[in-house]
Amino acid sequence: MSNVEKDPTELRCAASDHGEQVAQVDVLSARDVPLGGPRAMTVRRTLPQRARTLIGAWCFVDHYGPDDVAGTGGMDVAPHPHTGLQTVSWLFSGEIEHRDSMGSHALVRPGELNLMTSGYGISHSEVSTTRTTILHGVQLWVALPEEHRHTGRDFRHYVPRPIRVGGAEVSVFLGSLAGDTSPVRTFTPLLGAELVLEPRSTTTLETDPGFEHGLLVDHGDVRMAGTLLHPAELGYLGTGNTTLTLTNETDTAARAVLLGGTPFEEQIVMWWNFIGRSHEDIVEAREAWQNASDRLGRVDGYDGDRLPAPALPNATITPRKNPTRH
Ligand code: MN
Repeated sequence: MSNVEKDPTELRCAASDHGEQVAQVDVLSARDVPLGGPRAMTVRRTLPQRARTLIGAWCFVDHYGPDDVAGTGGMDVAPHPHTGLQTVSWLFSGEIEHRDSMGSHALVRPGELNLMTSGYGISHSEVSTTRTTILHGVQLWVALPEEHRHTGRDFRHYVPRPIRVGGAEVSVFLGSLAGDTSPVRTFTPLLGAELVLEPRSTTTLETDPGFEHGLLVDHGDVRMAGTLLHPAELGYLGTGNTTLTLTNETDTAARAVLLGGTPFEEQIVMWWNFIGRSHEDIVEAREAWQNASDRLGRVDGYDGDRLPAPALPNATITPRKNPTRH
């Protein structure tokens, strides 16, 4: 996924507070963001936003569909760069063709993790296939910590086996939950899982009290630690909780994606598709893309032009932090 907002703001992101003991859930609403390009797909973005920039190292949450691609045209994101992050693609329906500058050519399919590590720099394209009728899924980014943000490019594919916990079917694609562990490496303690909740069921999951969590509801109304979440909302729960109780309040199965991680302690700067630590990092990465540098490489096999970087903001960067929780 590429961040194609016309005037992306530069965000300075900080860790959230520690030691919350109250299971208070913040409800984060999505805003619609058109992806642009030759097709006109719109995504629902819940991270980053003014109220919150990070959940663990998760720093970007886009949710899309179900879209009938005959009507919307589906996804066609031309080659674009990334630095300092990992992209996590997870589909509920449809199929996306991924190509990147380390030579990966992969199909992203429902229930299969595809994780790309940009490290110092990579570029990729993402196009829904002609076989796709309904496109539906999430695109997530993970910030890399300082000691690993210049690591090499990498691409991983993993298919978790769904496990049953109470009234839930759980697919753990990153980290550990409900006794299952993903073998895919992360650079900070992290959790990513799809949950399918039976109608009117309640499930209690054991959680790491050092983790903060976000629950993105795809469909159904789901109560998270007492707070009702509607589709496309992201519920945020801070650290200090050893369990998480989820109730599907609807008469049909509900689906959600649970994200978690230890609060990310470093201040980062996000702009367009880059994560750095300073304005200068962003300027360098942007120049590397505009100059077709080997740092970001070239995507072979995409039919069309690559995405140009937007203009940098003229104004001084406005730092943004996660708000203090009460
Ligand atoms: Mn991307």
